[in-house]
Amino acid sequence: MPIYQYQCTDESCGQQEPVIAGLDDAMAICSRCGGLMLRLDDDLFTPYFDSPNFKEA
Ligand SMILES: [Zn+2]
Repeated sequence: MPIYQYQCTDESCGQQEPVIAGLDDAMAICSRCGGLMLRLDDDLFTPYFDSPNFKEA
């Protein structure tokens, strides 16, 4: 299984950690705060993460 780097979407957490994930696993659960983490090594990640509407998605 591949390992990807993920970042927590909680601004007060900001945890980054490697997660073993499948090819379609764009999200993971933060081990620090239990929040949603998104995969960093994706060209579509940055504009998506910066969107003000992200947390409503
Ligand atoms: Zn977190």
